Amino acid sequence: MQIRYLPETLINQIAAGEVVERPAAAIKELVENSVDAGASAIEIDIAEGGLKRIVVSDNGRGMSREDLVACLDRHATSKLPGEDLLEIEHLGFRGEALASIAAVSKLSIRTRDAECGEGWEISCDAGKKSEVIPSSHPQGTRIEVQDLFYATPARLKFQKSQRAEEMAVKDIVTRLAMAFPHVAFRLTHAGERKLHYHAMEGRKARLAAVLGREFGDNAMEIAAERDGVVLSGFAGLPTYHRGTAQYQYLFVNGRCVRDKLLHGCVRAAYADVLHRDRHPVLALFLDLPAAEVDVNVHPAKAEVRFRDPALVRGLIISALKLAIHEGGFQTSNTVTSHALGALGRSTTGALPLHRGNSPVVPLHYSRNSGMSPVYSYQMAERAHESYQAFLPEASVPSARAEAVVLAEPSQDIQDFPLGAARAQIHENYIVAQTRDGLVIVDQHAAHERLVYERFKAQMAEKGVARQGLLTPDIVEMEENEALLLLEHAPSLSRLGLEIEAFGKDALAVQAVPALLSGRVDTKRLLFDLLDDLREQDRTQILEEKLNAILSTMACHGSVRSGRVLSAAEMNALLRQMEETPLSGQCNHGRPTYVTLSLKDIEKLFGRT
Ligand code: ADP
Ligand code: MG
Repeated sequence: MQIRYLPETLINQIAAGEVVERPAAAIKELVENSVDAGASAIEIDIAEGGLKRIVVSDNGRGMSREDLVACLDRHATSKLPGEDLLEIEHLGFRGEALASIAAVSKLSIRTRDAECGEGWEISCDAGKKSEVIPSSHPQGTRIEVQDLFYATPARLKFQKSQRAEEMAVKDIVTRLAMAFPHVAFRLTHAGERKLHYHAMEGRKARLAAVLGREFGDNAMEIAAERDGVVLSGFAGLPTYHRGTAQYQYLFVNGRCVRDKLLHGCVRAAYADVLHRDRHPVLALFLDLPAAEVDVNVHPAKAEVRFRDPALVRGLIISALKLAIHEGGFQTSNTVTSHALGALGRSTTGALPLHRGNSPVVPLHYSRNSGMSPVYSYQMAERAHESYQAFLPEASVPSARAEAVVLAEPSQDIQDFPLGAARAQIHENYIVAQTRDGLVIVDQHAAHERLVYERFKAQMAEKGVARQGLLTPDIVEMEENEALLLLEHAPSLSRLGLEIEAFGKDALAVQAVPALLSGRVDTKRLLFDLLDDLREQDRTQILEEKLNAILSTMACHGSVRSGRVLSAAEMNALLRQMEETPLSGQCNHGRPTYVTLSLKDIEKLFGRT
């Protein structure tokens, strides 16, 4: 007979290859066991990135003598009472983590359970168990893993640097800490403190502790439910963003999972308000009946499979979009605080960075709110028209760096959230006065947002008006690029962009959106559109695709800085911003305005 049955140790070593690929994975398994044991405090100490030594101690319910012997066996678990893999209520259920870790290291466990009150200790060397001996351990469990992978030299060779391992350990501990705010966590490396989180009541407090206070200050609460699937958590305002998508966390029934689904949803939800190179920070928690999700698709349980992924996707996107729209008029208060901090430093050099109490204007403003009747609708409309008139680049002579300063406005206009325009400085910044402070508007950023929203409204209503070109623009490109664009020609045509094949490797642009006519570099536009089309995955709904394209077009089409505006135009811009969804940030997530309250200003001058 050629076939032989592998010995138990080899089987466990093979399993270990999947379950614990690196120290951080072993720590995840040990900490999850502590959470499952009901611990309220968990301490982790590592040496040499965890490769030399890992110690995880908890104050959970501990193990009896019999359980201590059994816990090291493969497929031995206390967490699956029945025969049904759909009834998983703990983080663990496969009963193989301890067996796997023990197979490739020198492991020892000390434990005392709450009931019989006796402490025990066992050790295990490359899968060989020792006798159980009494121990004076206090209640809870302490597991020490020495020389991980020493029994599998091949795996040992493939470990990364200690530094990389330490980073991975920190990452996993932060994720666990986010999932279990009521548990205190401490991570030390060779005795030196790396992370420390106290037990906390609310999720927000823990997220702020882990992701930073700025996140806490700039997060929108997410709460939604559909067909028994509950979504909660916090997502950063569009103006609070990072250069990587790394700070986007999804927890499914308490497990941190890496799921492409999340990133797709986040992109779709923020597409309108954030440049595609920027990424929001967020932590979302999905809680759903165990039967709705299969957690048994990955040995380290880092991936899950939903019974109805479309439902989950829809829920996440719509909840995020709703929050973004509700917070749309708001900009990150950190932006203001930073500005204020910088201002403080540059003027007096001694002011502490002020942050916290948000100087942001009220969230919702409605024309019928009764707070500001005098600045009449007609007036705003008229001003609006003249504002629209300058949309195509007009040749107003510019008065470089000369501020246009306006007279003291009537009290009523100051009641508008963005106040009354007082001056335009550096041909791009509108300074407006509110009842209790001032607002500085970045006219270019604001206008970009308005153009985009107008594009969208226009398109929804009647498709975008187009302007035929007298002589078509010929744009050369690779054959496959031309084909990709042509594939989308019908939707582009709805957007006012008419393209036709021109030989094999060029396109002829026959018409452009009227709003862009004469003001757009068609070649650059086509290549930006190509980037958009390549990035979006095919399953994304058409509207998202169109909106992304609109956003690109709006950026090309909006009024650059350097336009001198009249008082009416400035006020019209402010009023339009108040009326426009998401006007607190441009399409790239930069804020369109910052506010300073009188209090802030007084602080700057040390008056408080
Ligand atoms: P699983 O977690 O899938 O059950 P493990 O190999 O991780 O498998 O653990 C085996 C068993 O050992 C657990 O079911 C649990 O009963 C026990 N155990 C492990 N760690 C602890 C701990 N820190 N406190 C109490 N019991 C533990
Ligand atoms: Mg386990």
